[in-house]
Amino acid sequence: LSEKETSAFLDWEGKRRTSSMTELCVRSVLVTGANRGLGLGFVQHFLRMPKPPQWIFAGCRDPTGQRAQELKNLASKHPNIIIIPLEVADPSSIKAAAAKVGEHLGGSGLNLLINNAGIARPKSLDNETLESMSEVYTTNTIGPLLMGQAFLPLLKKAAQGSPGSELSCSKAAVINMSSYAGSIEDMYVWEFGQVVSYRCSKAALNMLSKCQSLAYKEHGILCVALHPGWVQTDMGGTGSFKPPLTVDDSVQGMLKVLSSISEKETGAFLDWEGKVIPW
Ligand code: NDP
Repeated sequence: LSEKETSAFLDWEGKRRTSSMTELCVRSVLVTGANRGLGLGFVQHFLRMPKPPQWIFAGCRDPTGQRAQELKNLASKHPNIIIIPLEVADPSSIKAAAAKVGEHLGGSGLNLLINNAGIARPKSLDNETLESMSEVYTTNTIGPLLMGQAFLPLLKKAAQGSPGSELSCSKAAVINMSSYAGSIEDMYVWEFGQVVSYRCSKAALNMLSKCQSLAYKEHGILCVALHPGWVQTDMGGTGSFKPPLTVDDSVQGMLKVLSSISEKETGAFLDWEGKVIPW
């Protein structure tokens, strides 16, 4: 780089892009829970980008199981998809995944970590249990915490390797897939289900996202909590009501949001259209 590139927006190959506000341009991304639902949707949308990432790490807790078949079919056609065995409720699995991703990346860093894997248990206040509260909290809240810790060195490396000081998802970011159901002020769709363990885990995930944003800002890493909308997936569509959003619409919206956010949004709780959600 020389003087003429000052304040230019360059991609990971040094090609000039029009504006950092309009294009998400990542060299590497890791999506947890990438074998179905929104996670698989992210993988598909990354593949369709004008400039797909060089590495799409698809975290999957059971890569040999039936539920991973669609992801495996996709990976067999696209060598930039690398399936990473990853159980987010197991610290040793997370450490092994970080080591594997680091090996693939060689000396470069990881631009984008999407903590998407999540579970919900249809429990009300009356029948919630220690087991369900612990299982949901471990997956939805502790998982993203440990993922952030384990992948921090790779995210830092990506931030250091990107030109410019402005935070962006093209540089280095942690995206925590939260839910409007975790909003304490709004108590979204309470009448459809109390799902107490889920609501508590996402409210805590929102706090974690804020903590991560404050701690990781100095390393050049942007962090947000994102609500995907109410989406037609196994999780979203379990009740009698058909969710309004398709996976495609939700993921497309979220990627547009990710392409536009910067320093002032780090630590925010946003929905798939970029609207701020009350805590
Ligand atoms: P799905 O139930 O369709 O998919 C969940 C994914 O997470 C699966 O790939 C599943 O893997 C994986 N997963 C679950 N537990 C673990 C674990 N312990 N380790 C690794 N992977 C795991 O959910 P959605 O796609 O709908 O949801 C994705 C995210 O979006 C979640 O965090 C959810 O809370 C959030 N969200 C979804 C909404 C919706 O309307 N759909 C609304 C608001 C938020 P496996 O196949 O092995 O079970």
